[in-house]
Amino acid sequence: MTAALNADYTSPWENEELSIVRGQMRKFMDAEFAPHLEDWVKQGKIDREAWNKAGEAGINCVSIPEEYGGAGGDFRHETVVMEELEYSGVGGHFGHAVHSTIVSHYVNAYGTEEQKHRWLPKMATGEMVGAIAMTEPGTGSDLQGVRTTAKLEGNQLVLNGAKTFITNGHHADLIFVVAKTSDDGKPADNISLVAIEAEGLEGFRRGRNLEKMGLKGSDTAELFFDDVKVPPENILGGQDGQGFYQLMNQLPQERLAIAVGAVAAMERAVLLTAEYVKERKAFGQRLMDFQNTKFVLAECKTEAHIARCFVDSCIERHVAGNLDTATASMAKYWCSDKQNEIIDRCLQMFGGYGYMMEFPIARMYTDARVQKIYGGANEIMKEVISRTL
Ligand SMILES: Cc1cc2nc3c(=O)[nH]c(=O)nc-3n(C[C@H](O)[C@H](O)[C@H](O)COP(=O)(O)OP(=O)(O)OC[C@H]3O[C@@H](n4cnc5c(N)ncnc54)[C@H](O)[C@@H]3O)c2cc1C
Repeated sequence: MTAALNADYTSPWENEELSIVRGQMRKFMDAEFAPHLEDWVKQGKIDREAWNKAGEAGINCVSIPEEYGGAGGDFRHETVVMEELEYSGVGGHFGHAVHSTIVSHYVNAYGTEEQKHRWLPKMATGEMVGAIAMTEPGTGSDLQGVRTTAKLEGNQLVLNGAKTFITNGHHADLIFVVAKTSDDGKPADNISLVAIEAEGLEGFRRGRNLEKMGLKGSDTAELFFDDVKVPPENILGGQDGQGFYQLMNQLPQERLAIAVGAVAAMERAVLLTAEYVKERKAFGQRLMDFQNTKFVLAECKTEAHIARCFVDSCIERHVAGNLDTATASMAKYWCSDKQNEIIDRCLQMFGGYGYMMEFPIARMYTDARVQKIYGGANEIMKEVISRTL
């Protein structure tokens, strides 16, 4: 079983074990997730139990060591889950990438032993849902400008501030808040990742579930902190002032994850469109028989395959431990741009039906747009890449 659009191409990193995992994931997504997507979209969030079901199926924390409750895989396993989510149509409606690919890896990479044992097993089962709260109403791209504070008062850290656009914001039980723990040093040295365990925490409030243009099944929320008290032991890694560097070190994985989703979405768009144009007729012939249709789809398939080969090479480099931030930024920016372009061109082949939400291509179009914005806007990616010139 292959992931790719080309039947005769299998990603060089995909071995037999991963193909078996892919088959299991595909069955699970088709049976347990895809049938619920419409309901999740209507209610503006997935069902909370979906996280527990994902835990039972071994989807959460696939690349976290087994001693902490994970499946002991690596980024290739993470990729298989992300691709299969995308092929099922659920994609980013289920906040897996934030929970599993990002948050659990902060804990695994920087957490103290106590923190790893406290949080990771519960994240793996789905008992705890993770979120990362960086963005604020007044600052997003400029992370060093965050205004949320976590000041030591007596033997407690006291958090004050507000965050916005937080994925899993309504379901999250474990939220890493990017906060200033000091005013003294360079801005980057003042930032820490402070964990809050949200259940019953005084002074913590979730705002409304934000109404988005796409990814409507994903809960995205504002979060408020009014004198929220947590022990200093909740600072990730136990030492303050490390947050900015912890975030920066994880960027290659986060950006690559967005590119992985983008490639799978491009492939799905081309496949869905090829199916449609072989059925639909106009002027007495199949849409597929118009030269324009063939050429557009040939171009889209070519570009999707170029993207796949580039991302495959990034995946191999990442698993080997040598994917740099600039190359991951290239993958994030270029693949998310191409995702939007290809889906737009494919949607055009559907005519008016492409504009109707009951056709998956319409949902893919609205879901795709944010890929160029979150995880660092694509302009920021180009800034990062240009520094290597
Ligand atoms: C659906 C969704 C989910 C999200 N999930 C999360 C989450 O889980 N956690 C979280 O912390 N955040 C999350 N975000 C926030 C997201 O990461 C930010 O929106 C993004 O980083 C951009 O920040 P901003 O919105 O403040 O835009 P701004 O920083 O105000 O930038 C606006 C635009 O200005 C331009 N720009 C900014 N800086 C530069 C520059 N240096 N050079 C050139 N152009 C520039 C870019 O075009 C950019 O798009 C999410 C956002 C969305 C929409």
